[in-house]
Amino acid sequence: MLILNVVGARPNFMKIGPLVKEMRHRDLPQVLVHTGQHYDENLSRQFFDQLGIPKPDINLQVGSASQAVQTAEIMRCFEPVVVECHPDLVLVVGDVNSTMACALVAAKFCIPVAHVEAGLRSFDRTMPEEINRIVTDAVSDLLFVSEPSGIQNLKREGVPDHKIHFVGNVMIDSLLEHRKAAEESKILERLNLAATNRYALVTLHRPSNVDEPEKLRGLLEALAELTQDLPVIFPMHPRTRNKAIEASLQLELDRLIVTEPLGYLDFLHLMSAAAVVITDSGGVQEETTVLGVPCLTVRENTERPATVEQGTNRLVGSDPAHLLRSVRTVLQGDRSPSRLPELWDGKAAQRIVEVLLRQDWRKH
Ligand code: UDP
Repeated sequence: MLILNVVGARPNFMKIGPLVKEMRHRDLPQVLVHTGQHYDENLSRQFFDQLGIPKPDINLQVGSASQAVQTAEIMRCFEPVVVECHPDLVLVVGDVNSTMACALVAAKFCIPVAHVEAGLRSFDRTMPEEINRIVTDAVSDLLFVSEPSGIQNLKREGVPDHKIHFVGNVMIDSLLEHRKAAEESKILERLNLAATNRYALVTLHRPSNVDEPEKLRGLLEALAELTQDLPVIFPMHPRTRNKAIEASLQLELDRLIVTEPLGYLDFLHLMSAAAVVITDSGGVQEETTVLGVPCLTVRENTERPATVEQGTNRLVGSDPAHLLRSVRTVLQGDRSPSRLPELWDGKAAQRIVEVLLRQDWRKH
């Protein structure tokens, strides 16, 4: 049985890492395809070394483009790979354009598709990722779910029970595996902050927060104001940086500790010791839940409700004044108790590979 594993963008690497490792451990033949949706050192290359992922066997080098052009380009480049490799299964992770594009190509060749992180729904179709999630799940044969809401969502959409496998969260497999190594990171020293310093950590890159200049201005002003309370570290996604420069927001940026996007171990180190994390990232909502660090999510909704119901996550929306008030409340020590969501125990990849090896999915 040959499995074709697909990655494309930053949040995919933490998800594929444990799977590639477990497949190797169980002698499951695999080919790793990188679509090149993210391609530079900061958003792609450094993660392979840090997460111990082998160099991709194939790189499609699609690069950046509009939603439609990028999706089309991935499909165009991935089709001949499928023809040549003739895999028994194509495995995709997460909710980026590569996830949906490669799932569609495989489905049209009638090759079974496995989707890792299936069933998550924000119920907000203005998010490109929501469209990717819905389409990918609709053409997948094996739906690996990370939290109970995913099971309910898939059942509501009519997915038969035998396709749904509740296995836990591969992103948390990575976090638990690399937590110890992340303790050694010297990132705080590099940023001229002592280990004793309290600080806030920020990531923002969703189009809904950064694409409109006035919205971005409001959020950056709130963060600049927050620096009166504590240092604010902002590893900035290139999309956000470009939009901030276009909107002439350099003054606000100058008050923050702005860095390039960080490597996984440095970022994990910063998250673990932060007084508060402010984010619109999906993965960061999950990671802070496991680390027990308060997380304020600058969105109206989340496709990961377990992080709110059981974890440390709170949805605060994108009103700057409300964001600032919420951060200050958290800093005053208002920490609600949190629990680990079910099966976020570091063994999700093992469970997934177990299902793949059973091969009973081939019967349907
Ligand atoms: N991350 C990182 N460096 C950074 C910011 C984030 O390594 O500077 C990691 C983070 O720990 C998580 C993943 O990137 O594992 C989340 O990626 P992103 O926010 O781009 O995607 P999303 O989860 O929103 O789809």
